Amino acid sequence: MKYFNSKELWLKQLSNTINNPYELLSLLKLDNNIKLINNIKTKVPFSFKVPKIFVKRMKLNDPNDPLLMQVLINIKESRNFNKLTKKISSESNLIKFNLIHKYNNRVLILLNNSCAIHCRYCFRRDYLKDISNIKNNMNYIINYILQNKEINEVILSGGDPLMIRDKNIKLFISMLEKINHILILRIHTRLPIIIPSRITNDLCNILINSRFKIILVTHINHANEIDSNVINSMNKLNKANVILLNQSVLLRNINNNASVLANLSIKLIQAGIIPYYIHLLDKINSNIHFLVTKTQANKIMRDLSSKVSGYLLPKLMYDKK
Ligand code: SF4
Repeated sequence: MKYFNSKELWLKQLSNTINNPYELLSLLKLDNNIKLINNIKTKVPFSFKVPKIFVKRMKLNDPNDPLLMQVLINIKESRNFNKLTKKISSESNLIKFNLIHKYNNRVLILLNNSCAIHCRYCFRRDYLKDISNIKNNMNYIINYILQNKEINEVILSGGDPLMIRDKNIKLFISMLEKINHILILRIHTRLPIIIPSRITNDLCNILINSRFKIILVTHINHANEIDSNVINSMNKLNKANVILLNQSVLLRNINNNASVLANLSIKLIQAGIIPYYIHLLDKINSNIHFLVTKTQANKIMRDLSSKVSGYLLPKLMYDKK
């Protein structure tokens, strides 16, 4: 038997992934559920992927489990794909050499094109594979930021930026640290929620020793995603002086309910994370079945405000177009 030290544990858990939806249904004792089986029969371009460590947080025998619903292929993905005119998310038009500069003071860097999990509602799912290797564009990115002195914040996104190994994250941060006008580094990631062991001691040391103020924005949609391992990892980040914020997506039949969201806010604060944003779905052809309308969202937020303290109320965000 091979033993893994804590540095390697996340990589082991990352490779321990289910890529076959039938296998997942069988594990959850749902392999007799005709509706779910019909749903996964469809062929879709975005593959199925979920690590086993995340599956452990799903309930057995529950076809409506909110974590299962986020990852399970649904026949509506392909129906919608064929019916609607293909619309790529507006974000993809802004990408230039892995960089998006939409707001004056900050740039977003797409550090890589892979994720630990494939979330069916993801608006980036159709162009993730097209994101270039960052190595090819590093010179462009560094020169661009050097020339634009109004930029004081860099946001790392992807895919998932923490899919990159610690030694490469260290290298990347040290390159950015040489640019004096950058003060804040923000990391948008779902990986430490899916695989909490991703928060290694090495990563914490890199973050605590950086001259940047580091903000890590987690992506959690439901309280059931937060278990004791997630809480332990968030505690490590808190001790490393990292500010923790969360953003969620409002998803039909998963979290479109004030009580569910109130429960999420409480669990977030117990894990030391501030509920920050809740986004209306960024629509693409294959995720419309998750849509919650703006009118419904406003009603949910009004109900939520009567259930939680102000600091536990995330801000509802939507595309103004
Ligand atoms: S982890 Fe984030 S980028 Fe990756 S599939 Fe999920 S929502 Fe999309």
